[in-house]
Amino acid sequence: MSRYLSSRLQSLTPYTPGEQPRDKSYVKLNTNESPFAPSPLAIEAVDKDMLADLRLYSDPTADELAGEIARCYSVDKDNVLVTNGSDEALAFCFLAFCDRDKGVAFADVTYGFYKVYAALFNVPTRIIPLDSDYKVKASDYMGIGCNILIANPNAQTGIAIGAKEIEEIVAANSDSVVIIDEAYADFSEVSCVPLVNKYDNVVVVRTMSKSRSLAGARIGYALASEQLARDLRTVKYSFNPYNLGTLPIALGAAALRDGAYFDRCVDLIKSNRTYLTEQLEERGFHVLPSSANFVLARSGAIGGKRLYLALKDKGVLVRHLADERIEDFVRITIGDRAQCDALLAAIDTITEAL
Ligand SMILES: *Cc1c(COP(=O)(O)O)cnc(C)c1O
Repeated sequence: MSRYLSSRLQSLTPYTPGEQPRDKSYVKLNTNESPFAPSPLAIEAVDKDMLADLRLYSDPTADELAGEIARCYSVDKDNVLVTNGSDEALAFCFLAFCDRDKGVAFADVTYGFYKVYAALFNVPTRIIPLDSDYKVKASDYMGIGCNILIANPNAQTGIAIGAKEIEEIVAANSDSVVIIDEAYADFSEVSCVPLVNKYDNVVVVRTMSKSRSLAGARIGYALASEQLARDLRTVKYSFNPYNLGTLPIALGAAALRDGAYFDRCVDLIKSNRTYLTEQLEERGFHVLPSSANFVLARSGAIGGKRLYLALKDKGVLVRHLADERIEDFVRITIGDRAQCDALLAAIDTITEAL
């Protein structure tokens, strides 16, 4: 740290992204990317003319992409704000709705970025523990007097709660904003997007990084009432008006037009999730019931950190999270069938040698 760093930031611990190693090729099941290529329509959407046009600024309204998002979710374009990854949508929510006097509540085990943003933006937090089954307990969130941030399905656990329970939370906190991070919702049966037209205090945050195979394009978006979306736009135009480049705008719009490809990819992930869960359970693992494109699993035979290191040694990358409540687990992204089988074979080799 230099002596120039703002005192506000001196105790900040930044977010630790999952490893993106370049040293060798791993079976990469650590950051919940898709094992499938982006839609062929997305790949065709970028051509030489478009690259030549990069001398021009991108469209600050990202109109083409916002239009496709609005069509996809049956909302108005005024309800949509496109962002540079959903991390940016979350940051805009912190800037727009949270401050020293209006804090934010979130679970003890959830997406690690929430506490980093709270620290970065000086926002007081209220940490609400998951119940003993690692579930978000809706009754803990009734009329709590601060903003609320819920990942549904939850990050790290993969467990989703029902849209009805979220709606009860929204209705019981009408003086606060309830932000629902739906990074993994495409792999679940639940979405709170319909609440956006019904309540003026909900923001649904989405990403094209996971279910749309576009993590490297950095495309996220927020869906909210017209007023909340306008507030988020005020932040965006005070921060980075051209927050999405021309290429991501075109890629994202084209990917959203390819509903058939998207459905196929999501179905494959869901069936591989069932397969991997069964296979892990047969091997004595405890697997939390996931509605996401990953499972959180605990071996009966070997600790989380050790299993992570042993798998890495065998060329299979999973994620070990140091959070106390889940340190016995590893988080495994659902890959294609060959990746699932490579993981299982590596686990067998490791446990046989114990
Ligand atoms: C992956 C993830 C994000 C970030 O997604 P980007 O759009 O790639 O920034 C946000 N929230 C949760 C819960 C995630 O798992």
